Amino acid sequence: MLVLGIETSCDETGVALYDTEKGLIANQLHTQMALHAEYGGVVPELASRDHIRRLVPLTQAAFNEAGVQYADIDAIAYTQGPGLGGALLAGAAYANALAFALNKPILPVHHLEGHLLSPLLADEPPEFPFVALLVSGGHTQFMAVRGVGDYELLGETVDDAAGEAFDKTGKLLGLPYPAGAILSQYAKLGQPETFHFPRPMLHSADLQMSFSGLKTAVLTAVEKTRAELGLSPHDTLPETVRNDICRAFQDAVVDVLVAKSQRALLQTGFRTLVVAGGVGANWKLREILSHLQVQAAPKSPRENVKTHFPPLPLCTDNGAMMAFAGAMRLQHGVQVAEPSGQFDVKPRWSLREIVRDGVQAA
Ligand code: ATP
Ligand code: MG
Ligand code: FE
Repeated sequence: MLVLGIETSCDETGVALYDTEKGLIANQLHTQMALHAEYGGVVPELASRDHIRRLVPLTQAAFNEAGVQYADIDAIAYTQGPGLGGALLAGAAYANALAFALNKPILPVHHLEGHLLSPLLADEPPEFPFVALLVSGGHTQFMAVRGVGDYELLGETVDDAAGEAFDKTGKLLGLPYPAGAILSQYAKLGQPETFHFPRPMLHSADLQMSFSGLKTAVLTAVEKTRAELGLSPHDTLPETVRNDICRAFQDAVVDVLVAKSQRALLQTGFRTLVVAGGVGANWKLREILSHLQVQAAPKSPRENVKTHFPPLPLCTDNGAMMAFAGAMRLQHGVQVAEPSGQFDVKPRWSLREIVRDGVQAA
């Protein structure tokens, strides 16, 4: 079975081909990061227009990379939501038009299901059931995953996503958008505990999280340091101070994610953790979660947790995870629509609705 996957929910145009026998045989990506950098965030209108420009050449490149023909595919999967309305429309219109022209079935896929299943594309895929920590630019949530299409939301952030906190904190420090990757590189150079930031809801007896207070704490620390050093708001901070702040910020976010991961594992009884989404590329989070242990009660033995990450390039948005999620749905007997030329997008769409819709595996 060969599925073409198309992703355009935000600022990455992704087109990939997944073969259930051969695996991922093409993965083309264009990131609009440079396009949006000067605005300090994604500009929706620019994003949609760029997707329109990139989709045809990227699809051609994907077929060239795989050495297969358009007629060889069995279905087209595309991101129906959640995401930016205009950006989603660009991909949906293209996917549906292509399906109509080729007379191939069309599979609308939930973006987070793509992220969630992306660790299954690794050389050593996780086995069901597992706890998924979905930690991206727009979401930070824990799910119990018992199979393809069987997702239970266990808890999530009550305000900002962790990736958003990285980006907003980076902006405060004058780093380019998106700031996660570069901020974590500076964190590597910083000293521990020169600054200390709060870990909100760390000890709450649930799987809720909160990250919006962190940027305020960073802002306060930046202003205080500027005053101490006699710097104006326009002066850049000394590199050592910047690195120490990045270190303290990253430590705070990672502490919360690690503690809540342990809680989620204990709560479900699962001992496999799967981390997906852009912040899953974070080296510190990877380092700690790779050696994670849990302890059910104070005197009980420590138990090892098996942690899985998507291959690094598949942490952030890409077409591969959409092609893969589409193929999994097909394999699990999900009803596919014949191309009709009619489609819609769902900019706001809870992953919970997938299960309620009964779209999951029969
Ligand atoms: P969603 O999938 O929730 O709609 P998104 O698609 O924007 O959101 P992703 O593409 O999965 O999110 O991830 C992007 C986010 O990951 C950005 O916030 C970025 O700063 C963050 N990120 C990327 N690399 C790292 C890193 N090494 N450390 C921390 N954060 C990172
Ligand atoms: Mg992105
Ligand atoms: Fe995403």
